[in-house]
Amino acid sequence: MNEHIIGAVRNFLSSRGVADANDMEVVVVNSTNGASANSQRLPRLLNVRVTTRTVVPKRKFEKRLTDEECLRAVEEGGVKGKDACPICLDEEMKQPVQLIHFEKKKGDGKANFCKTAMCFSCLQGCIKSQKPQDRGLIRPQCPCCRGDIYKAVTLSKPNVVLNLPAFQPLTYDVLLRDAARLSLTFGYDRIRREAGGWNITKWAIQTPVESRAKMYMHVSRSNSWNALFKNAGSTMFRSQFQNFPEQREIMEALKRKIGKLKELSNLPSVYRLTLEDYLVEQKTKAELSTVVDLTDSPKKKKRKKAKKESAGCVGSCSKPSSSE
Ligand SMILES: [Zn+2]
Ligand SMILES: [Zn+2]
Repeated sequence: MNEHIIGAVRNFLSSRGVADANDMEVVVVNSTNGASANSQRLPRLLNVRVTTRTVVPKRKFEKRLTDEECLRAVEEGGVKGKDACPICLDEEMKQPVQLIHFEKKKGDGKANFCKTAMCFSCLQGCIKSQKPQDRGLIRPQCPCCRGDIYKAVTLSKPNVVLNLPAFQPLTYDVLLRDAARLSLTFGYDRIRREAGGWNITKWAIQTPVESRAKMYMHVSRSNSWNALFKNAGSTMFRSQFQNFPEQREIMEALKRKIGKLKELSNLPSVYRLTLEDYLVEQKTKAELSTVVDLTDSPKKKKRKKAKKESAGCVGSCSKPSSSE
């Protein structure tokens, strides 16, 4: 029951546009498990009190290393990335990176002793397949020691420090929104059945370019993804359209398609793009930030910046890096 309430509160908060889940704490106090004294004046609802409050996150980790400190740590570590990748076991790593581990407060000081390097693409794959942890966020972990990580350093010259932010897991809502944003369409062919209704013979999810090629006779418009999803789950609709894909099949196909286009919006670009593309993106961003943009209102700009920071990290590395 508590999980339901936490879920409902979280949904409510996200629908109210509370951007940073890190700053919110949901406290559910069951009347039986000893409510704390300072929350006694709050209204009661079915013997369960739900209170939300904004908290300054307690620092669980030591200070984050600056980019310069990361580079130095990697240089002194002596890992060259010339051996086999521990993930894909390839003899030679593709774009090897070394991870920077969080040092837990009161930890044994051995966080960065895990010095395994791996292919950048293998690291991306591992983090993308991670399950959400506390507060529903996916926080990147080292595939080797399971320790929390927050940066990675490329081992080929010039060494570049990459930020590895936490992110929201992929949900059906996000997928449907991405599908609409990318103007994807659902195309299918059908034949009439003697007993009435239709039989779906083929279907596919198409980009605007693909759907213009008219490979499928019937195409659902891009703005009707929610309706299409609902239809796929309705018994009445399914009896009229035999072989219509299940909701789960549609979502899996959407995930594959949007992933192939590298457009899954729940994934920060560092987990989505190739290393080359990511570095180009970062460089373009850095160049753009030095140019005064007259088209953007200052208010909009400010909000954008705040969002970007919250998606990244809380410590010293949230400063925009001057190099690279
Ligand atoms: Zn690998
Ligand atoms: Zn590790």
